[in-house]
Amino acid sequence: MNKRFYLETFGCQMNVVDSERIVDLLQQIGYRQVETPEEAGLILLNTCSVRDKAERKVYGHLGRFKPLKDENPSLILGVGGCVAQQEGENLLKKLRYLDIVFGTHNVHKLPEMVQKVEQNRTRCRETEFLDRETRLQLFPKRTEGEAVTRFVTVMQGCDNFCSYCIVPHVRGREVSRPSAEILDEVRHLAGTGVREITLIGQNVNSYGHKEGGEISFAELLARVNAVEGIERIRFTTSHPKDLSDELIDAFGYLEKLCRHLHLPVQCGSDRLLREMNRGYGREQYLRKVTRLKGICPDIRLTSDIIVGFPGETEEDFEQTMELMAQVRYADVFSFLYSARPGTAAADLPDETPAAVKQQRFDRLLSLQEEISRDTWAADIGKVLPVLVEGESKQGKGQIFGRTTWNRIVNFEGDSSMIGKVVPVRITKSFRNSQLGSIQEPGARSR
Ligand code: SF4
Repeated sequence: MNKRFYLETFGCQMNVVDSERIVDLLQQIGYRQVETPEEAGLILLNTCSVRDKAERKVYGHLGRFKPLKDENPSLILGVGGCVAQQEGENLLKKLRYLDIVFGTHNVHKLPEMVQKVEQNRTRCRETEFLDRETRLQLFPKRTEGEAVTRFVTVMQGCDNFCSYCIVPHVRGREVSRPSAEILDEVRHLAGTGVREITLIGQNVNSYGHKEGGEISFAELLARVNAVEGIERIRFTTSHPKDLSDELIDAFGYLEKLCRHLHLPVQCGSDRLLREMNRGYGREQYLRKVTRLKGICPDIRLTSDIIVGFPGETEEDFEQTMELMAQVRYADVFSFLYSARPGTAAADLPDETPAAVKQQRFDRLLSLQEEISRDTWAADIGKVLPVLVEGESKQGKGQIFGRTTWNRIVNFEGDSSMIGKVVPVRITKSFRNSQLGSIQEPGARSR
């Protein structure tokens, strides 16, 4: 039996964490990961349905593997993640060559499913949502470091039901992990050499809201801040309505908390924010940004913006552009709206022509490119602390790390620096990264 597996992951960091878990689980039943589908006896896709036409793309991706299955009928093909959760039995009905469908709450069942197919060639599906208690027992945990940076899952699911978003439908309700367990994991990872922790969850700053007696997210950050060996802390993704004053203040006094916050605004029009069911208005959002910048003047913000939400007028769009110009995000991930079946917004009338939406999208992109270029170019000449993560793809003798603002910097150095924070003078700035040169400790910015 070919005990090699090939895994493709789509979408967000939550999926990356699920994929790490998939790797662990498959290794436990004797599988070894390989780089190409041709070498594998088991091929898995871990899917995401947040973005445009996700289901169609998954069908397309699976089609790529059909010739391999035709050639080798014992090859096992499986799909997990949000599309598997959403489509369930449909996937098995439509694709006769597919063997396994596992939903977002069922990753732990994967070994059992794989063994069932190995032994009986039984096609199987597991997509039921689990109860709260079971989910708490199954939270993804990392026991090995082997890296400088690690994600730690602190909550899962979402109760917000933004009208355009599929996540609450495919990931289930919010559940927060006990803080004691999170801190144990962080301490353990610190002991294995991890230096930067990113606390993740679909709606991470609502951590503990539903759990009586749990600490607040700001307090959780303070406790992670106290863990010896950890040098940097990040968290994502935050909902603006759950960004408390206590959490904003934490950016002023937690020395390990990176000075970057991804704070998705989605749009700048109050009318559309209501239609999106975002739970905050433009002014409320801007007040939080002002407070953040007051507490931490060099904080850099990034955001998600949807262009062409149903009913978006020119005036709504202009309000989004004005907000962007006012906040001056370091980067924005912008998306042209596309309806997700099963969400509230999917039924809204949408009469704006596609060409108009595209024009708006292009205008927004060009404004953001200008702001991003200026933001990152302003770093040239500065000496910034960079946490070195590994050898760079740029070639021999090059290593890379990140600044507090989560920007990748490539520079000359050797592997003995991996895991250390070193002073780097920024010499060039590109669209997605920067170039630098290492300095003596204490070097000053020009
Ligand atoms: S907060 Fe809104 S956009 Fe974010 S996951 Fe929840 S429903 Fe989706």
